[in-house]
Amino acid sequence: MTEQSRAVDATTTPDAASTPPTSGNPALRKALDAAARILGEDRVLRPENDERATRLLGPNASLFRTRRVAAVLRPATAGQVPELVELFAGDTGSGSLHVVSTGRNWGLGSREPADDDAVVLDLGGLDKVRELDLEAGWAVVEPGVTQGHLSRLLAHTPRLVNVTVSAAATSVLGNALDRGVGLRGQRTDDLAGLEVVLPDGETVRVGWWPTEDRTAPVYPHGLGPSPLPLFVQSSLGVVTAAVIRLAPRPEALRVVRLDFPQSALSAATDAVRRWVAQGLTRGVPRIYDPAAARSYGGTEGEFLVHLPVDGTAEAVEALTGILTAEARRSGLFTQVTATEAIDPAHPNHEVARLVERGYAGDPDIADVLFRAKMGVPADRVDAEAGFVFFLPLLPFTGADVSRADGLLREAAAATGTRLSATLHLLGPDLIDCVVAMKFPREGDAPERAHRALDLLHTSFADAGYAPYRLDVDHAHRRDALAADPGALALTRRLKAVLDPNNAIAPGRYR
Ligand SMILES: Cc1cc2nc3c(=O)[nH]c(=O)nc-3n(C[C@H](O)[C@H](O)[C@H](O)COP(=O)(O)OP(=O)(O)OC[C@H]3O[C@@H](n4cnc5c(N)ncnc54)[C@H](O)[C@@H]3O)c2cc1C
Repeated sequence: MTEQSRAVDATTTPDAASTPPTSGNPALRKALDAAARILGEDRVLRPENDERATRLLGPNASLFRTRRVAAVLRPATAGQVPELVELFAGDTGSGSLHVVSTGRNWGLGSREPADDDAVVLDLGGLDKVRELDLEAGWAVVEPGVTQGHLSRLLAHTPRLVNVTVSAAATSVLGNALDRGVGLRGQRTDDLAGLEVVLPDGETVRVGWWPTEDRTAPVYPHGLGPSPLPLFVQSSLGVVTAAVIRLAPRPEALRVVRLDFPQSALSAATDAVRRWVAQGLTRGVPRIYDPAAARSYGGTEGEFLVHLPVDGTAEAVEALTGILTAEARRSGLFTQVTATEAIDPAHPNHEVARLVERGYAGDPDIADVLFRAKMGVPADRVDAEAGFVFFLPLLPFTGADVSRADGLLREAAAATGTRLSATLHLLGPDLIDCVVAMKFPREGDAPERAHRALDLLHTSFADAGYAPYRLDVDHAHRRDALAADPGALALTRRLKAVLDPNNAIAPGRYR
């Protein structure tokens, strides 16, 4: 089967099976009955109670193949999770859990498991901020805590949470566990500690966790080998809470905005790299291609750069002056500004203000920019939008960015698909290249977008640009993308030791 033939429209394609996966599987039925006794019947959604197993999760925004799902479990407290996990650890036939926090992993599969017949463990109901220490800079949050929720608690405090530009209702923890990227850095770097239910039901706390006397400063690495990273992009445990680091809020912040034409792509990228390397900009500066720039009031046909500058008011003033002077001197940029967000008369004022607030840790609570991009509010994305992501890493050089831009154009031309690319500048040497494909759900547009996605996987891999996150339809590429077969074998051995009966479903990262 080709990759593209697996991409199907959930609204028109026959179901993978007409009988629910529990019928004929006594071990699974027993586990689900026991789960209903723990949670209450209303928190266990089974195909018998729904139309069919492929309808349990509803549609996904990417129109990836709708998986057949054995059941959806919705615990109300973290304390219920160990008992639930134990139910699936007993033998291989009792089913495997696919864990989601808020399940808004749009573009990569939303709530869908990678394989058929998983039991979805939906932790969205665990939504407590258990503890918050503004002095030391951390919060203990459960999976259902959203970036909107946490940032509201931090408003007007000296601390901020590193937010993404996804909807306010997305999970702080779910995003970090998938190695998401926020406006101030990679979200995994925000994880100081994790509370994990292991496949045998035991709960362990890895990394840093607050002590009674609160004397120990936040230090995630501990002594000796650190198990924390084992539970990121992982099927080794169910995370029921995390310690999230909260950075000090900068006293002042501004975003310098630059526009440049296609012909300057390589040289402008190299100029921006120098400023990143020399520490003139902080957080995650971004370069938007002309399609992505439209959502941010970019000049038609031009690339757009956002360079966040923060610190004390004097430092911001000085750095803004240095960056704008350097940009003008280079002769590469058609527009150089730093005042849109503070000038209410500027036509781009509102968008620029929201961008600056995002860099300052306040997500766009009303989802103004998100809705403008998606065309629908967050709660209708899965039912109405068409959207896939491709997320390769690039070396931070003008030559590599130009090459990647060429590959994107080729895929767009070959499939008639509209692509947009946003470059997250993660440091002086690394770019997270976010390729978004928004498509109508009608006609052959979904099929063309999926074909473009397959093409990008191949052409970027051939150029040496591997993705750092995978969607549900490309989980099979994980092995080929592994840098070292020995390391891959090690993770398989760990899985076999910790989870011999696959209580937790091997997911997108196996
Ligand atoms: C317009 C738009 C903008 C976006 N911008 C960004 C962006 O700036 N940065 C970004 O990173 N993404 C972005 N996204 C993608 C996506 O919406 C976010 O990454 C979102 O945070 C993921 O969904 P979630 O928070 O509900 O996580 P979930 O879907 O709940 O979790 C993601 C994955 O993590 C694992 N997982 C989740 N919870 C647990 C747990 N408790 N235990 C074990 N494993 C678990 C599972 O594999 C799950 O599939 C954007 C999407 C759109 C449409």
